[in-house]
Amino acid sequence: MNKRIIFIGLAVVIALIGCKSNFKPKEAKYVFYFIGDGMGLAHVHLAENYLAEMSDGDYSQTRLNMFSMEHLGLSKTHCQNRLITGSAAAGTALSTGFKTSVNTIGMDETKSIPLNSIAKTIKSLGYKVGIMSTVSINHATPAVFYANVPSRKDYYDIGMQGLDVGYDFLGGGGFHYDKGKSNDKESLTMLAREKGVQVISKNDDFLKYSNKNEPVQFIHGRIDASANMPYDIDRNKDDLTLGQIVEKSIELLDNPKGFFMMVEGGKIDWASHSNDAATLVHDVLAFDDAIGVAIEFYKKHPENTLIVVCSDHETGGLGLGFADTKYQSNPSLLKNQRVSIDSLALVFNNYYKIKKDNALFNEVLDTLNHYLGFGKEALVLDKAEIEQIKQSFQNVFVNKKTKDPEFNSFEFASVAVTILNHKAGIGWTTTSHTSIVTGVFASGVNSELFAGFYDNIDVPRKIVKAMNIKHDFKIDSVNSRK
Ligand SMILES: [Zn+2]
Repeated sequence: MNKRIIFIGLAVVIALIGCKSNFKPKEAKYVFYFIGDGMGLAHVHLAENYLAEMSDGDYSQTRLNMFSMEHLGLSKTHCQNRLITGSAAAGTALSTGFKTSVNTIGMDETKSIPLNSIAKTIKSLGYKVGIMSTVSINHATPAVFYANVPSRKDYYDIGMQGLDVGYDFLGGGGFHYDKGKSNDKESLTMLAREKGVQVISKNDDFLKYSNKNEPVQFIHGRIDASANMPYDIDRNKDDLTLGQIVEKSIELLDNPKGFFMMVEGGKIDWASHSNDAATLVHDVLAFDDAIGVAIEFYKKHPENTLIVVCSDHETGGLGLGFADTKYQSNPSLLKNQRVSIDSLALVFNNYYKIKKDNALFNEVLDTLNHYLGFGKEALVLDKAEIEQIKQSFQNVFVNKKTKDPEFNSFEFASVAVTILNHKAGIGWTTTSHTSIVTGVFASGVNSELFAGFYDNIDVPRKIVKAMNIKHDFKIDSVNSRK
C-alpha cells in the first residue's frame, strides 16, 4: 500500500478517535422557563409600543427582550375539552407535555392519572429547581410544576404537595388559603418552616440571605389577602420587582450541576381579566425586565444556558386599534394612569366609607382626573364620556346597583379606565380568555428547537430535549396525540 494512503488513513482514524472523545452534545444546564399568564402577542406588542412612545418614539428601534430573542415560535393552546383553555390545563400541558381538561392540575382529563412534571424529573437528576410567580405560589401555573390534584381550587392540597416536593426555591407570592379554606388547618408556611425551609418575608433579609444549602421560600413583603404580589403599577419604591427576585434566586440556585427555574408573570392575566391596559403594560414590562436578568446570566454562560419564554393563553381579546379612534392610536396615554383598577376602586371604597350617601359626583370626578389624568390634552372628556361616568356614578354610588352585596366601586373605576383605554386606541373583546395561538421566544443553547409552529404540549418536550435528559412521557392519557 502506498505510504501516503496509509498516512492519510491513520490521520483520519486519529481524527475520528479524537472527535469521539471530545464530542459532547450541546445541552442546556441552566434553564429559564418564563410563562406570561394570559400574555398574548398583542400584550407584548402593546408594551413595546408604549415603551417606544415613552422614549424616542422610534417603533423600529425599541425592542423588548422577548422580541429580541434568537428564535420565535407559535404555540396552539387548546385543552382536552375546550378550544379556549384555562391556566390549569394549559399549565399542565406546559409542565407535563399532555393536554388535560379545564381546571385540572397535573392529571389527565379523567382526573385519575397523575402526569409527570418535567421539573420533578429535573430535580431528581440533581439540578436545583426554583418556582416563582407574582401570584400565590399554589396558584394554577406554579402548581402544575409540582402538584397533581383534580382541581385548581384544591389550594391547600396543592400547597402540601409543594412542601413535599422539596424544590430549592419558591418565591414571589405566598400560600393562598395558608390555613385551608375554613381557616382550620395547620399553616402551610409554618409547616414549611418545620420542614427546614428558610421562609423569608422581609425584602432586606432576602437580599442578604446567602445560605445555598437549605431550601428557601421568599414571600414578597407586600402580598395581599390572597397572598399575591402587588401589580407592578401599584408597586412601592422599596417593593422587590420580579426581576430582583429572579436575580437573587439565580444566586441561590447557581451550582455546577445546573438549575431549572419557572418564572410566572401571573398578574398579566389578572390585569387582562380586568381589561386594564395600563396595569397590563406595567406587568408585561416588569416580566420583560425579569427576562433581561436571565439574558445577563446567559451572556456569562452562553454555552449552556437556555431561556424559553411562552404564554399559557391570551386573555381579554386585546385589540391594538379601536373603532371610535379608527387609525389613531396613542398607547403612551396610558402613562397617565397611576394605579390599577383594583387600587382605584379601593380609593373610592374608602371615600364611600366616609361619605356614605353624600358622595358627590364632582369630588369623584376630581379623583378620576388625578388618577387617570382626565381633563388634559388628549384626555379631555367629551360630553358623552362624562355622561357615561355620571351614569355609572349613579348606579354604583347612589343606586348601589353592583354585583356585590357590599359597596364596591370596581365597576365604576372600570368604566373610567375603559374610557382611557379607548382614547389610547385600545379595545378588548372579553373579560375571559381567548383561543388565539401564543408566542414562544427562546435564546441560548438548542433554542432553535423552539422555532416554528407547534402545540403547547411540545414546549416541555423540547426543553427536555434541549437539556439532553431523560423524562418519562409514557403516561399517555386516553386522548393524547402521538
Ligand atoms: Zn386567566
